[in-house]
Amino acid sequence: MISFYPGPSKTDDHLHEYVLEAHYSGILSANHRSPEFMKLYAKVVKMFKKRLKVPDDYLLVFTSSATECWEIIAQSLTTSGSYHFYNGAFGEKWFNYARKIRKNSIGYRYSPDVELTWQNLDLTGDRSVICLTQNETSNGTQVKNERISQLRDVYSEHLIAVDATSSLGGIYLDFAQADIWLASVQKCLSLPAGLGLMVLSPKAVERAREIGENDHYNSLNFILDNAEKFQTSYTPNVLDIFLLHRVLKNRKKIEKVQAVLEKRRTQLEKIIKKSARLKFLNGNKDTRSTTVFAIEATPEDVAFLKEKAEENNLKLGNGYGEWKENSFRIANFPAINASEWKKLKNFLVKYSRLLEEESPTT
Ligand SMILES: *Cc1c(COP(=O)(O)O)cnc(C)c1O
Repeated sequence: MISFYPGPSKTDDHLHEYVLEAHYSGILSANHRSPEFMKLYAKVVKMFKKRLKVPDDYLLVFTSSATECWEIIAQSLTTSGSYHFYNGAFGEKWFNYARKIRKNSIGYRYSPDVELTWQNLDLTGDRSVICLTQNETSNGTQVKNERISQLRDVYSEHLIAVDATSSLGGIYLDFAQADIWLASVQKCLSLPAGLGLMVLSPKAVERAREIGENDHYNSLNFILDNAEKFQTSYTPNVLDIFLLHRVLKNRKKIEKVQAVLEKRRTQLEKIIKKSARLKFLNGNKDTRSTTVFAIEATPEDVAFLKEKAEENNLKLGNGYGEWKENSFRIANFPAINASEWKKLKNFLVKYSRLLEEESPTT
């Protein structure tokens, strides 16, 4: 069964080799304060920055999940609240977690088919954190680097936090344009779930130090103290950290990875355009995601396609949240190889035609 589920998603084709490598290297039994682990951490940081073009002065720290990162930001980088821009379920969830911790947090919902906009909003009350979801996995939309950079120009005093869970590792992200980037590894990084990460600007680190929050096992200051020594505050998912290094080492430059995913996106757009029964949930090409496609159809057509996909050993992703019944999702993640993508394309061409023949739309 080939999984096109957008997370957890298909893992890297070489994973079994890397797991064996980890096992035989002895790293899995090493203490997380040992020189072996510290060496691994340093190596991952170097490879991560090289492959994903992260500025040298940014820090990479590990957590357990993207969800944990949401809480860490509220807890350790805000004092009264944060501002949240969202157009789908993940961004909204983030807002809801944040306001449990800081009740003055404010959410701005915007439409999936328009570009992120902040006109007429007064975010000047507090030197706070502006939170946005770069790639909204629930509805297949994205915010472009240029847009984040414009936001940064307008709100230069604020920290900008970006959830890039379902795009980091798949497309080029201009890390310098925001202060906190968060993700977990079971999406574009093609790894088993159980590891989250944050990429932090010097300004974010400085703000954490200024606020000085130190009340929790996952307080950012505590994480930072340990990261400076290439250690973690608690015993981390060493296997995933090892695998992250190996997967990235074997990856092409991020521009090349992105070019492949974009080519697939164009191919899929052609297929959908030809179909009278399928359309993208997000009609605006400019805000449509490169790494997660959400395709809208009637609940009957969605059920039919999912069933036929299973028969063909393909697993389509369910719709999410309010789009559960009338959409399905396709992960366009780097782990999906050329022959798997071709199978999916052929499937969609064949069965979208079949849909039209069996019950033509009037
Ligand atoms: C999957 C996902 C998350 C949650 O990731 P976890 O590792 O399960 O916490 C958060 N944000 C986005 C955009 C996601 O796609």
